[in-house]
Amino acid sequence: MKCPRDGAALEAQKYESNIEVDVCTVCHGMWLDKGELEAIEASSEHDYTAELAKDQGVAPKKLADLQAQDKRGPIDCPKCGKAMETREYGYASRIHIDTCIHGCGVWLDHGEIQALEKFFDSNRGNRTLPLRWRLWASVLSVLKR
Ligand SMILES: [Zn+2]
Ligand SMILES: [Zn+2]
Repeated sequence: MKCPRDGAALEAQKYESNIEVDVCTVCHGMWLDKGELEAIEASSEHDYTAELAKDQGVAPKKLADLQAQDKRGPIDCPKCGKAMETREYGYASRIHIDTCIHGCGVWLDHGEIQALEKFFDSNRGNRTLPLRWRLWASVLSVLKR
């Protein structure tokens, strides 16, 4: 697959222990197949932010930078080639990610995975979780048995 931002070839890399992602070495964007972001959300138990930033040799971005980044406009899905839609992830995350509405997966621009990890962390242990999150928690506890 090619990077939807700059056309560079995406490199398969491991993210956490069992999730394979496709990363652009030019812009540090990341492609996640359908379900992989949810898997990261469900599985991350400690902070990979620093690790990932170190790997890429770049510092995590601030939310304001991410929002400015969102204004770059739509991109085409690297899998099916159709225009992706920018959607807010999860419940009030304020993180907008490019989503293939045909179900291929999502594209995360540089810094967005770190922002999402932070968002996941801040949701963990929260007792007033929206239903969707509570469902995830129960799925996770089943998987861990
Ligand atoms: Zn790129
Ligand atoms: Zn697609």
